[in-house]
Amino acid sequence: MSRVRRHVTLDEPLLFERSSPGKSGCQLPPLDVPEVDAEQALGSNLVRREVRGFPEVSEVEVVRHFTRLSSWNYAIDLGLYPLGSCTMKYNPRLNEAVARIDGIASAHPYQPESLSQGLLEIQRTLEAFLGEICGMDAVTLQPAAGAHGELTGLLLIRAYHEANGDPRRVVLIPDSAHGTNPATASIAGYDVLEIASNASGMIDVARLKAAVDDSVAALMVTNPNTVGIFERDIQEVARILHAGGAQLYMDGANMNALAGIARPGDFGVDVMHLNLHKTFSTPHGGGGPGAGPVAVREHLEPFLPLPRIFDDPHGLRFDWDRPKSIGRVRAFYGNFGVLVRALSYILAHGGDGLRNATVDAVLNANYVRKGLEGHYDLPYNAASMHECVFSDSRQSRRGVKTGDIAKRLIDYGFHPYTVSFPLIVRGALMIEPTETESKRELDAFISAMQAIAEEVERDADLVRKAPFNTRTSRVDETRAARKPVVVWEPRSRK
Ligand SMILES: *Cc1c(COP(=O)(O)O)cnc(C)c1O
Repeated sequence: MSRVRRHVTLDEPLLFERSSPGKSGCQLPPLDVPEVDAEQALGSNLVRREVRGFPEVSEVEVVRHFTRLSSWNYAIDLGLYPLGSCTMKYNPRLNEAVARIDGIASAHPYQPESLSQGLLEIQRTLEAFLGEICGMDAVTLQPAAGAHGELTGLLLIRAYHEANGDPRRVVLIPDSAHGTNPATASIAGYDVLEIASNASGMIDVARLKAAVDDSVAALMVTNPNTVGIFERDIQEVARILHAGGAQLYMDGANMNALAGIARPGDFGVDVMHLNLHKTFSTPHGGGGPGAGPVAVREHLEPFLPLPRIFDDPHGLRFDWDRPKSIGRVRAFYGNFGVLVRALSYILAHGGDGLRNATVDAVLNANYVRKGLEGHYDLPYNAASMHECVFSDSRQSRRGVKTGDIAKRLIDYGFHPYTVSFPLIVRGALMIEPTETESKRELDAFISAMQAIAEEVERDADLVRKAPFNTRTSRVDETRAARKPVVVWEPRSRK
């Protein structure tokens, strides 16, 4: 069959390539007021003399162009999004409806407290639920993201040590940590000391013990860690730190593996953050608003950021008079819409539902692990929590790297997994299916990954050149990041 050119294709030309001279998206009526000179009216620095190559197109051409491009976007509403460490789960529409309720969506941050009682109640209730889920005594909802929560948490630890007259300067971080952890510790003014993991991918307790002295302010640990393994020795880790006068910080971004099953406060954590945009179902990716609430044990409560909500005989009020507080970490009261979605998600699930979601997340990750373990190398053979991490060591013998496998996965219609992270696994393939995926969707993903493993054996070159079903295949990623081309130059197009 001879090739035909489909009218609407996945090879949408650039808007510039649709341009024809003199076309315009709007028509203005003839001028009925005196003409003014743009340069005189606006100032010459604001008037462009020449707009070279600017596309001249009609309104419908613009609308169709962007509508077509938008349909190329891979989203959680389209299919499995197995990006490890990111918890890309489906976000129920109910949460969106609740966040848009009039009176919530249209509230103004300068609205007086007396007219904001329901909004304050939302925050108070969410604080209580998150405290209960984490087994902690108090929660601030203000940090705007996970990394912001980390910074807030470390500033609390700093304030605590300083109040005890014992400022310390070192933060210990396992080598499996998310990159934000060392960055946060450094921005909070601490020296970072890395703790190497043991052969099982967990914190090496003996190494930790040797590292804890009176200069150590805290250990930042992710549990389950970034290789998807629960830190079994966490209680012993907490005991060692506390005996040395240090605090235990937990990066709770992976709470999707624990909620309703285990509470960090019960295994010795002093302070932690949550990623509401991961565990508590807010749409994320692409830089949209998130929230990184911080939960603390009682001894850190006096240092929490301003303001705090308290019960007054006349209703709920903000308390600004807290002399030990680290102060403000954000304008107003956090990303309120995200907080509403999280509360809606928690209420809709209830305790049993949250627990079920966790169990299903862990089950799905183990199902994927079992489906792929004959095809890809598993560096750590412990049972997975919410995600599983493979390495490309088998495929790299044939010259195929984790990035090549991810590109080939695009041809099969899936968003890639997380590539080359965590750093302690060479050539990592990090997969987090989440609980919202059906067995059918997981099976389709497993088949695609198995098919790619077979392709590597048969025709490694094919996988190295993928993807084939996209407008652009391989780009020089380093150059694209360092020297992006943001100016369009006309070029001829067949
Ligand atoms: C996502 C993530 C973070 C950072 O959260 P942001 O909201 O992106 O700032 C930190 N630690 C871990 C383990 C994560 O997965």
